[in-house]
Amino acid sequence: MNKKKRLNEIYKRLFSYFGRQYWWPGNSKFEIVLGAILTQNTNWINVEKAINNLKKGKALSAKKVFDMPIDKLALMIKPAGYFNLKAKRLKNFINLLFAEYAGRLSALFNQDLTALRQSLLSVNGIGEETADSIILYAAGLPVFVVDAYTKRVFSRHKFIAHSASYAETQKFFMENLSGNVRMFNEFHALIVRLGKEFCLKNKPRCGLCPIRRKV
Ligand code: SF4
Repeated sequence: MNKKKRLNEIYKRLFSYFGRQYWWPGNSKFEIVLGAILTQNTNWINVEKAINNLKKGKALSAKKVFDMPIDKLALMIKPAGYFNLKAKRLKNFINLLFAEYAGRLSALFNQDLTALRQSLLSVNGIGEETADSIILYAAGLPVFVVDAYTKRVFSRHKFIAHSASYAETQKFFMENLSGNVRMFNEFHALIVRLGKEFCLKNKPRCGLCPIRRKV
């Protein structure tokens, strides 16, 4: 079986084993963007606590975050960890949104994928994984999100080199999957699930893994 077929087979196996993942959690595009920035270096439970603080404080909008003093914002998102740094990152993003897009996510997202990616990457504190998560899950445009789990699983199975860069890994997926938002959405979420439950860093649970022997 060639790499393309094997990759698509893995997707099917993961989907049939884990089912639909319903990513990205969030009731609005703005909440998804916030979550993508806040989830850096922490787990989702902590992000949810931070977002709930903003909800309780009726501050879950671009304008509210724009108007809020940075120290107050940092306190509200404290559960997400690195809260001073993350407050700065949120402010950097919001400042771009108001400076260039009249504070409207719809205006930011109303550009082609390459231009949107460049805009997001111009924000201090938004790297490739965060930018692509925003593009895929909030803007709904077809880009494949790469994370540490993706590199671990697919280098272990020799689809990519252990030293593969973000761009090289992404290129591999984009070239070998049909450019379909729904599949990119689901596949990334399934890989995260696989990495958390089976493809552990030190002791992968290959004997129980849903893709074992078939890849
Ligand atoms: S747990 Fe083993 S079989 Fe499963 S993805 Fe990781 S290396 Fe592959």
